[in-house]
Amino acid sequence: MTNTLLTDAPLPAFGAIRAEHVEPAIRQLLEENRAAIAALLASGADRWDTLVVPLERMHHRLGKAWSPVGHLNGVMNSDELRAAYNACLPLLTAYHTELGQNAELCAAYQGVADREAAALGAEQRKVVDNALRDFRLAGVSLPAERKQRFGEVMERLATAQAKFDENVLDATNAWSRQVTDERELDGLPANAVHRAREAAATAGQDGWLLALDAPTYQAVLTHAASETLRREFYQAWVTRASDRGPHAGRWDNGPLMAEILALRHEAANLVGFANFAEYSLATKMARDPAEVTEFLLRLARVSRPAARRELEDLERFAGRPLSAWDIAYYSERLKDERLQVSEEALRPYFPLPRVLAGLFTVLGRLYGVRIVANAAVETYHPDVRYFDVLDRDGTPRGGFFLDLYARPKKRGGAWMDECVGRIKLAGASALPIAYLVCNFSPPAGAQPSLLTHNEVLTLFHEFGHGFHHLLTRVNVPSVAGINGVPWDAVELPSQFMENFAWRDEVLPLISAHVETGAPLPREMLARLQASRTFQAGMHTVRQLEFALFDFRLHAEYVPGQPPRIAETLAEVREAVAVVRPPEFNRFPHSFQHVFSGGYAAGYYSYKWAEVLSADAFGAFEEHGVFDAATARRFLGAILERGGSRDAMEAFVEFRGRPPEIEPLLRQLGLAA
Ligand SMILES: [Zn+2]
Repeated sequence: MTNTLLTDAPLPAFGAIRAEHVEPAIRQLLEENRAAIAALLASGADRWDTLVVPLERMHHRLGKAWSPVGHLNGVMNSDELRAAYNACLPLLTAYHTELGQNAELCAAYQGVADREAAALGAEQRKVVDNALRDFRLAGVSLPAERKQRFGEVMERLATAQAKFDENVLDATNAWSRQVTDERELDGLPANAVHRAREAAATAGQDGWLLALDAPTYQAVLTHAASETLRREFYQAWVTRASDRGPHAGRWDNGPLMAEILALRHEAANLVGFANFAEYSLATKMARDPAEVTEFLLRLARVSRPAARRELEDLERFAGRPLSAWDIAYYSERLKDERLQVSEEALRPYFPLPRVLAGLFTVLGRLYGVRIVANAAVETYHPDVRYFDVLDRDGTPRGGFFLDLYARPKKRGGAWMDECVGRIKLAGASALPIAYLVCNFSPPAGAQPSLLTHNEVLTLFHEFGHGFHHLLTRVNVPSVAGINGVPWDAVELPSQFMENFAWRDEVLPLISAHVETGAPLPREMLARLQASRTFQAGMHTVRQLEFALFDFRLHAEYVPGQPPRIAETLAEVREAVAVVRPPEFNRFPHSFQHVFSGGYAAGYYSYKWAEVLSADAFGAFEEHGVFDAATARRFLGAILERGGSRDAMEAFVEFRGRPPEIEPLLRQLGLAA
């Protein structure tokens, strides 16, 4: 039987991937790579063509084999796949550490830098510079004993982080709430009620079964008139994988969090950094911890007074002090009363097929691409569709899998991931392929999925990432698309795209009433736009709370002492928050961005990149949102160049000056 992960097909053959393929395929690829690298070094290869090109090719191949495994583990989780995925994590981590610590290989790259400096293009130079930096960050020049310890730390870290994710997923899946008295569902949107009805039928239960997936959780917190139901959901959600709540202690991430922080600190120390925050910044746009902290505190000074006023206003409206599980509910009612904008009332105007078609039109007008569904490509679930991206003249640029609906065994949230990276080097050629994943409510019966405007923003956001990956012109995979882009600049194209979903020129393209086909009426449009700054202060301080908590947790870690997780969170809240969550709140225990994702000591990146994206979008506001010359410059300076150049230089080339914070403050209605 052939192992489909080892074939050279352009796209994954999802139907043929078996859990038992995974470990043998990865083991074989790692062995082949090790042998090939040893042979290269033995031959004295130290040139771009003889060293870098073969390495880029072998890692492209490894990435392509591993990508569908990681993806399926996230969106079609099963016990077998999870076990296979987990069996490979330590193998891959060990391989990467070994590579990063290979002094001979580092010397060969140094050889390329020294001997070919004049001949290398800027893109090639960046590849070599990044490689040399990463050797240093992996401890290439450490004594053997410390090198080995660094490897052990990284391996254990990968396993601990994966376990953190599993605990969150299991805790989320384990909880649901049966409702038998229909009155308890008062206020809930029809689609949420419909899904709960179906879930109960599937489970052979009476009434309605509300799961703890993100759309249901949001629906309950925002719309359920029953405070009891809201509180139960809130409690279940914010205590997931912790020592509190309905499954207290069952999947408690507490010990893993302590271990993860300790391991990160140790790894940073081993390679010469005072703490993990400094280590994290070594690959980012921000220069040092002080710059990050000052940036966040500056935003806090501007937004906290506004947030305080907004909360007072909200409590006046509610007529009582509000608990954490009341905020979204009363905010929605207040927004409804004051602006006559309700997310639910907007849903019928945003049927998913219309939003997608409009979004494709926007991308076409901006970048001259055509997006065409291709039903011939095999996917991994009936809900998932594949699309080709073509140039104006029909030349293929890449493609993407679109997986939009929430379902059991699928990780929550929304994200873009690389399925295949772009490569065009001697002996290898591939176009970029992406996975675009959301968790929207599935179609209810014959009716298409209807999106809130907030979900429309999420879709635009992920397509922003997707087209950063798909429109790249870079031929070397390690700096193509989002690869090699600093984390704090990677949200620039995504948050940039969100801006379009607020505009007069765009909303008629993406809205059409599900029954009448009418676009969003002008006055509704104006009210929707006015709602953009609604509670912007409260929203901003919440993001600042997450960002400061994450950054300080890593910057202030003291080895040998228990991590100050709850204490740091309390101090940060004291400094920036306005809403005080209840004592049982354990949100860090499910904070995957920071404990298991790539945002450790990097959550600030969202705000950092929001400054960049608001300022970049300002150029479109000045010249027209579909201005061809501006779009061409954005494409040429940023999207097509990926990680092949310095992020600040790219921004300055596009905007003609360094980024400014004022456009973001104006966008949020927080400008002085
Ligand atoms: Zn994003």
